[in-house]
Amino acid sequence: MMDDLNGKRAALARLVGQANRIVVFSGAGISTECGIPDFRSPGGVWSRFKPLDFKTFMSSPEARREGLSRFLKIRDEIGPVEPGRGHAAAARWHRAGKLAGVITQNIDGLHQRAGVPASRTVELHGNGTYAHCLECGRRHELDWIAEQLEAHSGAPACVECAGIVKTATISFGQSMPADAMHRAGEMTGNCDLFLAVGSSLVVEPAASFPALAAQLGVPLVIINGEPTPADRLAELVIHDDIGDVLEAV
Ligand code: NAD
Repeated sequence: MMDDLNGKRAALARLVGQANRIVVFSGAGISTECGIPDFRSPGGVWSRFKPLDFKTFMSSPEARREGLSRFLKIRDEIGPVEPGRGHAAAARWHRAGKLAGVITQNIDGLHQRAGVPASRTVELHGNGTYAHCLECGRRHELDWIAEQLEAHSGAPACVECAGIVKTATISFGQSMPADAMHRAGEMTGNCDLFLAVGSSLVVEPAASFPALAAQLGVPLVIINGEPTPADRLAELVIHDDIGDVLEAV
């Protein structure tokens, strides 16, 4: 088993060594070592402060207040976080000129914090580290939201146009961002190695990108702690700890 794992790690090192346009496609598993639980941890923050779906969020100021408060509770519970070894590997490949980009389902902004430029990062499910106005797009910080919730009843409105303010995440029931979907498709089509890291690969349409890579004949590598439905499409599957594997490449 150990030899098998060592052989797989060596195969990964070879594939990374030969590649010039790597796409790192990440899910919640790349950030668990940073202290942000993935969806599956029982009793974790996501089940206790489950984010509201889009329709409910939009239904009333009270619902919006509740939705924003839940997000602040998640942030407070998780506390300050730093990028992990998986984020560091992607940033290292960027510095070496080998990274086409990152496509992430995560909303934690840790790829950019580790050094992958925002211009090379596609956030399919948005970003939960700030909020924005759904009308004019103006950015609002979470600390400002917390102050507004404390000082006033109802939900805070945009300081620019009085529009609805929401965390910059894509909620269940909200349309996928067209620009992010388009960029993710282009990145997938132009890469020469696709690494799917820390995702159960069950959330659609995000999970369609590893499948697209395999369909286009791009070598697909899956690194995840447990099997995924896309394992059968991959050239290499490593069921091991992401930080351990990527730190060693
Ligand atoms: P998921 O929770 O469905 O799957 C995470 C996978 O990572 C699991 O299969 C788990 O076995 C694996 N994993 C966890 N830690 C690992 C480690 N150290 N080494 C190897 N494997 C590890 O997450 P998903 O596929 O990203 O989909 C869930 C949705 O939840 C996404 O849409 C994402 O936006 C959202 N989410 C985001 C965050 C975040 O921003 N950090 C956290 C939780 C959920």
